[in-house]
Amino acid sequence: MDAINKRVGKRILVAGGAGFIGSHLCDALLADGNRVICVDSFLTGARSNIAPLENHPDFQLIQHDICAQLKINEPLDEIYNLACAASPPRYQADPIHTMMTCVVGTNNLLALARKHGARFLQASTSEVYGDPETHPQPEDYLGHVNCTGPRACYDEGKRAAEALCFDYLRLGQVDARVARIFNTYGPRMQADDGRIVSNFINQALQSEPLTIYGTGRQTRSFCHVSDMVAGLIALMGVMPNPKAPVNLGNPGEFTVSELAALVRKMVPGAGTLVRRPMPQDDPRRRRPDIRRAKKLLKWQPHISLPEGLEDTIAWFRLSEDKPGRKRRAWATETA
Ligand code: UDP
Repeated sequence: MDAINKRVGKRILVAGGAGFIGSHLCDALLADGNRVICVDSFLTGARSNIAPLENHPDFQLIQHDICAQLKINEPLDEIYNLACAASPPRYQADPIHTMMTCVVGTNNLLALARKHGARFLQASTSEVYGDPETHPQPEDYLGHVNCTGPRACYDEGKRAAEALCFDYLRLGQVDARVARIFNTYGPRMQADDGRIVSNFINQALQSEPLTIYGTGRQTRSFCHVSDMVAGLIALMGVMPNPKAPVNLGNPGEFTVSELAALVRKMVPGAGTLVRRPMPQDDPRRRRPDIRRAKKLLKWQPHISLPEGLEDTIAWFRLSEDKPGRKRRAWATETA
């Protein structure tokens, strides 16, 4: 029997595999018996996220920025593209690179998928809906994005990446699928990436005031990373190709103030609240309509926010003790 016949798993490339969601995806794919090639530039991904995998016989790490073309000298069955800075302060830090990662980077990976005959999954985002006028957001809502604002590098970049995926699909060149990922949280979020969940937990653990941007009445819907990874794998595997984007997220909707109250209740010694200015173009409401995912993928999230926060708080507590971990939350300046 040759090596190919002996192989039970698939050969899967995960771009952004050292990132928050990407590293959990690598874990799950390896646990299922696949070979995983993790590609990451480490711009926002962290080596510590994948350190436990580096000695795994079926894991390979390639440090590479997808804005440059990539050659892989072995067959590939699947490519997941999760490579892009994803928190507002991080993707706005180098907006031109963010846009190029979405457009040039996605095109490079689609061309790689075409060459290898690999199935492709693009990590898109609820940001394609902008500041939505329809609530909750179904996939056929076309969105309300300010194409010249500070979030445009990400929102419009991800919209362009979706357009590329559907063009490759319509042209019969790549079996491409698009997941629209809503706010996701869990262990391995970076303490300083400026997101609400990591900010609030780290501020609470340090007994610093929790930073509420604007009125605190804006809403988000938070999905635990393990539920998200299950959804991504289900979308990659489903047959036939849905030929349409699929929302993945947890429909439980919370205001920013409600989340702050929950975190303060769960972290003894948490500080008070402090107001900060509302960032420009910050969406006022966000909640996924997940009927398509339920129907096509038989997928839905199972972890409630209090349950998932417990796990996330425990992880940040543990990582606080590790040398070299960035502990401070990143928050906007005082008004
Ligand atoms: N936010 C906040 N305090 C923080 C960080 C974020 O009030 O310290 C708010 C932010 O203005 C937004 C929501 O929380 O309304 C979610 O922000 P995040 O950056 O996590 O993700 P987004 O969904 O905006 O990409």
